[in-house]
Amino acid sequence: MTSYSRRKFLRTSAVTGAGAAALAASVNAISPYIYPESFDFEQNHSHWSKALPSINRALQTDLSADVTVIGGGFTGLSTALFCKQQNPALRVALLEAQRCGNGASGRNGAMLLTLTDERYMEWQDDVALNRRIYDLTADNIRRLQKLAADTGIDAEIDQRGALQVCNDSDYVESARQFAERARNSGFPIEYWDKNKTAEALGTRLYEGSLFDPNGGQLHPGKLIAVFKRATESAGVDIYEQTPVIHIEDALPIRLLTRDGHEIRTTSVVLATNAYTSKLGYLRRAVTPIFDYVGITAPLDKDQLDRIGWRSRLPFNDSRTEVFYLGLTADNRIHIGGGPVDYLFNNGLREPLDAARRYQALQLELGRIFPPLSGIRFETQWSGIVDMSLDQTPAVGVTGKNKNLYYALGFSGHGVTLSSVFGRILADLIQGKSSAWEWLPYLNRLPAYIPNEPFRWLGVQLALSYYRLRDSK
Ligand SMILES: Cc1cc2nc3c(=O)[nH]c(=O)nc-3n(C[C@H](O)[C@H](O)[C@H](O)COP(=O)(O)OP(=O)(O)OC[C@H]3O[C@@H](n4cnc5c(N)ncnc54)[C@H](O)[C@@H]3O)c2cc1C
Repeated sequence: MTSYSRRKFLRTSAVTGAGAAALAASVNAISPYIYPESFDFEQNHSHWSKALPSINRALQTDLSADVTVIGGGFTGLSTALFCKQQNPALRVALLEAQRCGNGASGRNGAMLLTLTDERYMEWQDDVALNRRIYDLTADNIRRLQKLAADTGIDAEIDQRGALQVCNDSDYVESARQFAERARNSGFPIEYWDKNKTAEALGTRLYEGSLFDPNGGQLHPGKLIAVFKRATESAGVDIYEQTPVIHIEDALPIRLLTRDGHEIRTTSVVLATNAYTSKLGYLRRAVTPIFDYVGITAPLDKDQLDRIGWRSRLPFNDSRTEVFYLGLTADNRIHIGGGPVDYLFNNGLREPLDAARRYQALQLELGRIFPPLSGIRFETQWSGIVDMSLDQTPAVGVTGKNKNLYYALGFSGHGVTLSSVFGRILADLIQGKSSAWEWLPYLNRLPAYIPNEPFRWLGVQLALSYYRLRDSK
């Protein structure tokens, strides 16, 4: 190539590249107008939903409030409760589109987890900070137990520990190193070898595990009942079957419900998790990912003996598309996770081929516990995880007047953390942010996720990569 034609080629390439980038940026910017999001709220049909409290009536008038919480999951209920506990004079209202616990809080994998794990949370370099975050979450599980005891509802909270098992020997070395690093930093995390893991779980499928004595499990539907009772007893007005369809970011903020009622309020809490983008906020922060769970009927003594899950410790595995299992107080086994799905434009209708996912869960259960091969699930369900790109959560305030509060990006790890964030949000609303300035999740936003069609393409690419990695 002559130097003239090389220059021409480079110039043409640069112009084409810049043009393509500008086109992509324009498509990304106008995408939310081309693809408006619908306001579908899928129903919670999970096993846990049978224990959800009865549904309150919808909002039937206009309203004014100091604080209006949108969303009746653990984040919303706990924020409303702590706001009212801190300042009983505050008028606090909570608006829930369906019923409290209809979202992830009422249909999850029931694992109570501390924040320790580098796979879910970015391991910070600061040892003292790591320890502080761990203690905050471990302590919150004890607080949940106390709250349940105070309300007189047994939420089956069991803090006997939790395991993360190693699917292959490659992961063993990094698990060992993680445990050593954690212990040097003062965390009580232990590495358990193959034999000890098998003794605890009754299966020899795993090469080892990490034991966290502060983890545990619970009954999600009953914890919703605990929060709802405590929140209403504290004086919060909860309206269910009341979707908010519009937020006008003015002073005061004006909210519009689907039934046409208006709420004027000083502060709003977006406790809307994976649904937040429907209200036009934080679309960039998370993407809704379908995750699947199945639960058996109660097992009899003979089945339990043959499985040998003596420790009853809940566990999750070391794959990127993680499987997680638990044994309930009435001896049902539930298994969730495995391959997940994303529907174009943050879609919320359960994917048509969900049956394939439930079948994969059944097969995995039989692989882990051969005596249960072929066992049918009594109930199976899907739920939406608010996945952030860096799998790191965020809590803070946004809006023109800095009075729209948010907490999201739990990425499948929010049962414990959501009510920690509820406490933080209550403090932020009362102007006490200085208490939390040490926390790296405060006033951050997760890494940027582009709009459609790049979002869909990006998720498909990521899932293909995860599946390749997990299949090794
Ligand atoms: C299948 C599955 C398994 C999981 N397993 C675990 C686990 O084992 N351990 C763990 O730690 N975490 C797990 N998670 C994650 C955990 O459940 C969530 O991080 C946590 O429950 C989030 O709570 P939340 O209150 O923020 O959101 P949600 O519980 O999703 O609550 C949001 C609520 O907002 C309402 N809402 C949304 N938009 C509006 C609107 N416009 N108007 C009114 N109301 C609205 C929704 O109806 C919903 O009830 C799992 C999640 C899923 C889906």
